[in-house]
This record gives sequence, C-alpha cells and structure tokens, in this order.
Amino acid sequence: MTALLITVDTELSAALHLQGVALEENVRRSIWAEARGQAVGIGWQMQLLDRHGLKGVFFLDPLPALIHGVDFLKPIVGEIVRRGHEVQLHIHTEWLAWVKDSPVDGRQGRNIGDFTLADQILLLGLAKHLLEEAGAPPITAFRAGNFGANDDTLRALAAIDILWDSSVNPAYLGRECGIVADREQIAAVPTHGVIELPVSGIIDRPGGFRPAQICAMSAAEMRAGLNHAAREGHDAFVVVTHSFEMLSRDRQRLNGAVMARFEALCRTAGRMPQVRGAGFHDLSPAIADAPARGLTRVPASRLRTGLRVAQQVLATWHYERRLVPA
Ligand SMILES: [Zn+2]
Repeated sequence: MTALLITVDTELSAALHLQGVALEENVRRSIWAEARGQAVGIGWQMQLLDRHGLKGVFFLDPLPALIHGVDFLKPIVGEIVRRGHEVQLHIHTEWLAWVKDSPVDGRQGRNIGDFTLADQILLLGLAKHLLEEAGAPPITAFRAGNFGANDDTLRALAAIDILWDSSVNPAYLGRECGIVADREQIAAVPTHGVIELPVSGIIDRPGGFRPAQICAMSAAEMRAGLNHAAREGHDAFVVVTHSFEMLSRDRQRLNGAVMARFEALCRTAGRMPQVRGAGFHDLSPAIADAPARGLTRVPASRLRTGLRVAQQVLATWHYERRLVPA
C-alpha cells in the first residue's frame, strides 16, 4: 500500500503584506484563495479531498501571528481539524522583518536555514507553540518555506520533538535547500534525529527531476509518477501544492488548468486500490527502518514531457498573458 500525502503549504503572502494589504484580505486571497466570487483555496481543496476519500496535510506558517496575534490562525486551524485533515508546521522567516519584538534579537534571514542552530530551535519551537495555541493537535511534521532548511534545521526539529521533515525537494538541493541529502533518495530515511520524507517526483528528461507539484506537472505526469510508485510498492508518495496555487500569479483570477490537475489527481488516486490518502499521523516511523530497496522514479517519456511543455505554454498564455513560463 502506498500512502499518498497531498501536502499544501498554507501561508499568507509576504508580498501582499509589503504592498500594504490588510490581514483579512491577505487571508482571503492567500488561504481561502478567493477571486471573482469563488474560493479555490484550502476549503475547495478539502472538498475535493473529502469527495475522493483522501487526506490533506496543511503545512501552515504561523509566523505572521508575531505581528497580527494568534487569532487569525484559529479559524484556519479549526476548519482543517474539523474536516479531519492535518495541520503541520511551515515557516517563512521573511516575516521577521516586520516583527517589533524579535524573538531572535532582530536577526533576520529569508530561510530558516540562514539562522544558527540555537536561533532555529527558538524559532521553530515558538512557531510550533503558536500553532498549538491556535488549536492544532500536537505538531509532528515540518516543511521549510522555500525548502530553505539545512542539517541544523533537522537537529532543531529533533530538539523540539518533531519527528518528520519534508523539506528535501531534489529540485532545490544545493540551492535554497542546504540539507545534505542524496537526490536519488526516494524512501523515508532517519537523519539527525528526525525522519526525512522527501518530496516525490518523476524523471522528465535523462538525468532530470521534476517535483510532484501540482503547478509543475501535467495530470498525466502525476498519474504516471503515482502509478509507478504504487507498482514498485513505495511506502509514500508526497505531492506539493499551495493554498493559493489555484489562482493566477497576481491572485486575481482562477487558474482552471491547475484546478483541473488537482481534480485529476484526486480522481485518479481515489480510484487506485493500492493507494490510500494519508497524513504524517498515519505513517509508521518503521518505514524509515527498511534498508533501501532500489526504488526508482518513473523514467523519462519524451511524449509526456512534450505534452506538458505544450500545455504549459498555452496555460501561461491563457492565465498570465505571458509566453515564457516562469
Ligand atoms: Zn511556503
């Protein structure tokens, strides 16, 4: 049985905050993803997950609570928990730039991995506390904003009793992600006192890697990747999306192409008998004990990649009025 973890990085937009957009409107646009009278954020995502018997893991960034107070988190946490999905921890340290009473003496960094181990323990411990204060059940998993973690982040998580990390995305290794990891690593592995469960993906060209992110992969690529993982008996397949990913880049319009991909994934996964929707609470730490069994990613298919590129160019033109995908 392959556990499918559909993970949703759930966060306010620092860019909107910088533009002077008020908290309530930022929540509306970034978390519930409202545009043109429709909402296609985490509420819409949970509706689809529920319809197909799947589970979402909502990695929620609580750091804006240091500016706005913890109350804005409560309805978000409440709705996720009420519907039986999972709240876990995400962090975007860029919010520290606007915090008056800095928990780390004014030190700043774009990513959690930019901080010392001591500061990371403090920041992650504080963030976990904020989520739990907002009503979240005990936090057991983490993903860094921008995948910007390093090995000290893993040590810090172990120090505050968070067991799982999912900050390794092979597409970001050696860039934002400073964790020392093997980009061929597919299964969960114990490291620095936590269990690392990397973001899943496919090989889109010889030697390449494309992460299983809704906006980065066609429905056919996602289906091929998940099918392959299930056939090979992978313990887990980790998909990434965002609370605002169903909107166009300027968050003014719905992105029907990305919405259709999310729906296609839910429909496909809901029909696969060897796949079950899961959160981190459903995973056994024992999946990291088994020695590597030579798992692979679905190999490159020129047709599949070509079709996705063509779709992407069309969608970029349609939703962003730009010809070059970014
Ligand atoms: Zn994020």
